[in-house]
Amino acid sequence: MAERVAAQPELYSISSEHPALNGRRCVACGYVFFPPQSYGCESCGALPDQIEPAQLAGSGVLNSFATVHLHQGKGIEAPFTVGVIVLDDGPAVRSVLTARTDEGLRNGDRMHSVLTTCGTNEEGNEVVELRFTKTEATR
Ligand SMILES: [Zn+2]
Repeated sequence: MAERVAAQPELYSISSEHPALNGRRCVACGYVFFPPQSYGCESCGALPDQIEPAQLAGSGVLNSFATVHLHQGKGIEAPFTVGVIVLDDGPAVRSVLTARTDEGLRNGDRMHSVLTTCGTNEEGNEVVELRFTKTEATR
């Protein structure tokens, strides 16, 4: 039976519709970072054995964005918009946004993570990627 699999399972979990990001936390100083790396703490220099996994909520604030109109790489067709989102849990992440253009986007907009289908792998499973989308204000 076909399943849903993450294109980059080391970076995020797909167990919910608003996926969490797989960050890391320094036990020594509390610094939280993303993406995971194995060098130790970037803030206090603690060794890698002081770093623990930290699930970061896929929500935050749009800090900057740019629309790519010409792109010759594989996997994504221009135009598309890339944004930097400062997560509520601390780290800033760069992500492709679901909006193809920057129309209606403003720095400071609330954003949240979503999964989009990007293809099917050899086993017939649906491959999903993490993107960010604007959280519509509820008034
Ligand atoms: Zn630290």
